[in-house]
Amino acid sequence: MPRSDYYNDEGELEKEECPRCGDTFLAEHSDRKHCGKCGYTEWN
Ligand SMILES: [Zn+2]
Repeated sequence: MPRSDYYNDEGELEKEECPRCGDTFLAEHSDRKHCGKCGYTEWN
């Protein structure tokens, strides 16, 4: 995976908010992003 997919210009890990919860960040996995609160999964 390209490094730019996960890091912004500051080199910090980019966090994506859950579209359902809005206040929860998605946990990043190799092939998907997952919200541990509502179970929302976003496949890459
Ligand atoms: Zn959620």
